[in-house]
Amino acid sequence: MCGIVGYAGYHEAAPFLLAGLQKLEYRGYDSAGIAVFSDKVRTMKSQGRLATLREKVDAVGGIPGTLGIGHTRWATHGAPNDINSHPHTSMSGRITVVHNGIIENYIPLKEELESQGVVFRSETDTEVVAQLFDKLYDGDLVGTLIQVIGRIRGSYALGILCTDYPDTLLAVRKDSPMIIGLGEHENYIASDIPAVLDHTRRYYLLNDNEIAVIKADSVELMDTDRNPIQRDVYTVDYDISAAEKGGYDYFMMKEIKEQPMALRTCIGSRIDNGDIRLDKIRLTEEQIKNIGRIHIVACGSAWHAGIVGKYVIEELTRIPVEVDLASEFRYRRPILSRNDLCITISQSGETADTLAALREAKANDVHVLSIVNAVGSSIARESDDVLYTMAGPEIAVATTKGYSTQLAVLYLLALKFGKIRQTIDQKTAEKLMHAMEILPDQLERLFADEEALKELAKQHAAKDHVFVIGRGIDYGASLESSLKLKEISYVHSEAYAAGELKHGTISLIEEGTLVVAVATQDQLYEKLVSNVKEVKARGAYVVAIVKEDCTDIEGVADQVFYIPKTEDIFTSTLTVVPMQLFAYYTAIERGCDVDKPRNLAKSVTVE
Ligand code: GLU
Repeated sequence: MCGIVGYAGYHEAAPFLLAGLQKLEYRGYDSAGIAVFSDKVRTMKSQGRLATLREKVDAVGGIPGTLGIGHTRWATHGAPNDINSHPHTSMSGRITVVHNGIIENYIPLKEELESQGVVFRSETDTEVVAQLFDKLYDGDLVGTLIQVIGRIRGSYALGILCTDYPDTLLAVRKDSPMIIGLGEHENYIASDIPAVLDHTRRYYLLNDNEIAVIKADSVELMDTDRNPIQRDVYTVDYDISAAEKGGYDYFMMKEIKEQPMALRTCIGSRIDNGDIRLDKIRLTEEQIKNIGRIHIVACGSAWHAGIVGKYVIEELTRIPVEVDLASEFRYRRPILSRNDLCITISQSGETADTLAALREAKANDVHVLSIVNAVGSSIARESDDVLYTMAGPEIAVATTKGYSTQLAVLYLLALKFGKIRQTIDQKTAEKLMHAMEILPDQLERLFADEEALKELAKQHAAKDHVFVIGRGIDYGASLESSLKLKEISYVHSEAYAAGELKHGTISLIEEGTLVVAVATQDQLYEKLVSNVKEVKARGAYVVAIVKEDCTDIEGVADQVFYIPKTEDIFTSTLTVVPMQLFAYYTAIERGCDVDKPRNLAKSVTVE
């Protein structure tokens, strides 16, 4: 998820590796390491900042060698500590690996290798690659790599060193970025262009499952049948700050566009053979069967995810769910019972209010399961169980992929609990799992409306008030859509349960007021259409977000955006996307700093 660099040349590798990793710092990381090969592979790694690693390297007078790999880690499997930091070396010392991504089937592979006597040092999924490579190694570097990628599942960008090949750096990728930088008598690998820009502007893009054999004076690309690949050389023609954002103007847009990928990782690794694997949670089936009540506790967008989660969990499990704002929960003396479950949700895992609420629940002997993005964070450490959202680092203050992966984990939990409590049968579960698996592709299709949403933002950017209305789950999604607009564009926006509008707030609707109506719930659709008519009658300009077969709304609303058909309980994953884009372009129109909105911080560590 974070940074990889590699060097094959005639100069010292370590200075390049450290400088390259520094250029990738913007991607976020929790630890770093490098391995350099001369007579043997020397590895140095360190939890925390890159500067600490640099100090360690300097303290021993540098690491000699002209071939090396480096890594900044954003932990997904195992705490961010020195041992789990990359690079990882196989037991014999022959194979050293850096990896970005997630090896989804690392548990069975690890068990298989352990049964053959392999001893693992770290808790990472990555070490499996090093140990497996060594186990399968038959002297043929590329042949072994082909075997390895035939056995591993998931996402990976890999940089590999083998002590039998003192001049060769091996690389491969799938669903995780990797470029090959082309220098003068030296070549590089990197997960992003800024890492090599001080040395070259020429590079190859590596596609999924393409292998690169890199030496100081040559780069060979081949497919998994060893057919050579001819690739055009790209030349970088933009500056470093654009490069960091993957060519986008702001991280927020990059992260909006990363949502399909993030969802694939989050969902793909947990749906397996008609069942849902919830990592290694301690909560037993017996406990799940006996849950009396669920308390979802969170702040901001995570709280909005919780509200949608309530609808989904109650629908699939019939367990009553309460959703609390963390800052309220602890001071209202919540009524908690031993067979309750508390679910806390936080992207950073450091949200002070949520952490305090978690402690409150634990003090009452309630089992706490957390949904967190940052591995090893305080909330993750203090919870009884944690399910990671695996969204990758989120840099923009306004969450996008963090929120959509939180929703996905809540869906998975609801499905798993529903199966265990037999409130849904296997056939329904399979239908829902299939619907979840195609959500990432469906979300991707929504980007086709980007231009129309940009235009809409241009038309309405000067408006002072916006209302987002919906019923049921659509109300939950409206809360998040409305917050996106408020936080980055500073437009006053309110989400309203559509049926509630007439009890007071409708007095604020006047000629030209923008009302976004989210109407994706079959059972509530007609009621929502009536609410749209009510606001239209008072002069509102109505933008509707509906499922793709609800074309009749065109006669009622002023503009319509369609989402692909999915199960009603999963629509929030899709309805929020047009609003993320609308909020983004409204903020641009109003000249706001999209990534760093005023008065806000990414991780709220104060009460
Ligand atoms: N899954 C690997 C780990 O937890 C790699 C994480 C990354 O991409 O930085 O070590």
